[in-house]
Amino acid sequence: MKKLFLLIIILSATFACEKEDPNKKFNLFKETFIINLWKTYPNVASSVGYHKYDSILTIPDKAFNDKQLKFTSENLAELSSFDIANLSDDNKTDYLLIENQLNAIQWHVKVEKLYEWDPSQYNVSSSFAEMLANNYDSLDTRLNNFGLKLISVPAYYDAAKQMIKNPTKEHTELAISQNLGSISIFENELKSALAASHLSEARRQEITDLASVAVKAIKDYAEWLKSFDNQSPRSFRLGKDLYDKKFEFDIQSGYAVKQVYEKAIARKISLHNKMRELANQLWPKYFGSKPKPADTLALIKQVIDKISLRHVSSDSLLIAIEQQIPELAKFVTEKGLLYLDPSKPLVIRKEPDYMAGVNVASAYPFPGPYDKSANTYYNVANISGWDKARSESFLREYNHYILQLLNIHEAIPGHYVQLVYSNESPSIIKSIWFNIAMLEGWGVYSELMMLENGYGNNEPEMWLMYCKWNLRTVCNTILDISVHTKEMSEESALNLLTNEAFQQEAEAKGKWRRVSLSSVQLCSYFTGFTEIYDLREELKIKQGDKFNLKDFHEKFLSYGSIPVKHIRDLMLRTSDKENESKGKD
Ligand code: ZN
Ligand code: ZN
Repeated sequence: MKKLFLLIIILSATFACEKEDPNKKFNLFKETFIINLWKTYPNVASSVGYHKYDSILTIPDKAFNDKQLKFTSENLAELSSFDIANLSDDNKTDYLLIENQLNAIQWHVKVEKLYEWDPSQYNVSSSFAEMLANNYDSLDTRLNNFGLKLISVPAYYDAAKQMIKNPTKEHTELAISQNLGSISIFENELKSALAASHLSEARRQEITDLASVAVKAIKDYAEWLKSFDNQSPRSFRLGKDLYDKKFEFDIQSGYAVKQVYEKAIARKISLHNKMRELANQLWPKYFGSKPKPADTLALIKQVIDKISLRHVSSDSLLIAIEQQIPELAKFVTEKGLLYLDPSKPLVIRKEPDYMAGVNVASAYPFPGPYDKSANTYYNVANISGWDKARSESFLREYNHYILQLLNIHEAIPGHYVQLVYSNESPSIIKSIWFNIAMLEGWGVYSELMMLENGYGNNEPEMWLMYCKWNLRTVCNTILDISVHTKEMSEESALNLLTNEAFQQEAEAKGKWRRVSLSSVQLCSYFTGFTEIYDLREELKIKQGDKFNLKDFHEKFLSYGSIPVKHIRDLMLRTSDKENESKGKD
């Protein structure tokens, strides 16, 4: 009897082995994949909080490109041994993310070739700066790794000079200023860190000497770039072919570039129409019987300027935000828009000095794979030291209405809430390659969704400001696609931003600079927003009176920070299944 029992166990074990669970096998693949990913990209590993390879500086030479191609083709081959249909939803989306990323790397190396034309790709400063600024390990350990890493800096910039072929003027200038701007890390900041450490005098001297050699290599690189003989520099404009492909890899949208562009143009027109209506409605309240400007855009602009005067004072910005966050949480809960986890509070604080000057307020960090339990901070700009003119223009920009929209976007139910949901997902793959269009799309979607549900009491002022705020993401998209694929001139770009999107001259000029140094990223907000909104409307039609907004939001966020098109596939399938089973009874 005992023997027979044992036999059965052996038989069933063999049987189970033959029919190995594909998800188990895939999980093992992922584990090995991530280990090898960090070996191949030690600097990326450090930046996501995996510090085993901190002392290594990757030399960006031809051999590194070959190594990347080998890594990607080997892993793509292994990936293709899995049948995606047999995997769980979680693994399915991990599979698709890995596949997309590996194909993207191959394309970057073989086709896009940033390493030949964007000299700002070569800059060692951020990884060194992080080692000084973040307390993930003892200062002595971090400084020792800092010293080991410094050894490779000259070889790093030698490789850069070998690889650069035809740099654009704009990226060359950026590379010079960013590299020279980073030198203080290796001088002042390193000096104070060394002074605070317990390293021996000899070791300190060693690191200081290595740092001066590194600084010399950085300065040489900048000089080399300044004298680069470039008769016909490459244009910063990406061109249609590269743009379409980059959009496909980076945004991973269900829509093609052309569709997104058309949707943005249509959205701009409908926002202008709505703004005209609102401005007409508000005119008597703010201007009495004063005659209205004949030009629609001028009319809208005057009303916007007027209601922008309602804003907090520079020393009450932090308090205003602190008071608003619980109000937003209360509204979301009372209206039943989605569940908020009370155990993960958002820490609101004045932004640390090293982050100063970037944003008025921002939730930080985005999903981190190795420190999920860390606090999420809502960093608020400290503008009390600014001169009057500067802070006044800033406060008008982030006036009474926009400040609320910003808090919705960044905090509740925007980025911060999305982050809490996303951190429920155990997948490291999803945290490394979180989809920026999904993240930003959710932030932008949250703004509209809150207003649709009565936030702001349907005040016309709030809606008008919302339209202006939303127009920014719409026009960023039109700008990015037009500049990189349609030869849009600087003049018409500035005209679009100042006249049609009501931006200040300085903001518009900053945007022109950004679009000449980056591509595709400016589309992520509007693309993600449109996809989420369209998915919601699609499900509303499909589910009829069974549609529930709270369920939709919670289900949508439960998949983690993955491309909206994958969420759409999963949600539509679930919805179909539910309909089928309902049809049966
Ligand atoms: Zn004022
Ligand atoms: Zn955002």
